[in-house]
Amino acid sequence: MANLNRRRFNKALGGSVSLIPLSALLGSPNAAAAALDPESAAARALKFTLESEKEGHSCSKCLFYSTVDESMGTCIVFGNSQVPSVGWCTSFQMKKTL
Ligand code: SF4
Repeated sequence: MANLNRRRFNKALGGSVSLIPLSALLGSPNAAAAALDPESAAARALKFTLESEKEGHSCSKCLFYSTVDESMGTCIVFGNSQVPSVGWCTSFQMKKTL
């Protein structure tokens, strides 16, 4: 029963969201953002790159990105690690604009 509920939850949220650590969603007051290592297993699994090759698709335009300054931000997909504003990975989701 628990497995079925978890499966439904993951399915409802989509595959990439299941990589988000619970602490990232709840917030962590002492979480000092470290730069994402592009060679880490998680970064490689999502084909993270420090500089996007897709026009108009970069971390700064991604739903999962929070701006720190004009060149850097944090990404909840990678546990709030710092990523460059011009980076990209396969979990990219365009921010909705009003
Ligand atoms: S494209 Fe989005 S999900 Fe991927 S590293 Fe950048 S901010 Fe994170």
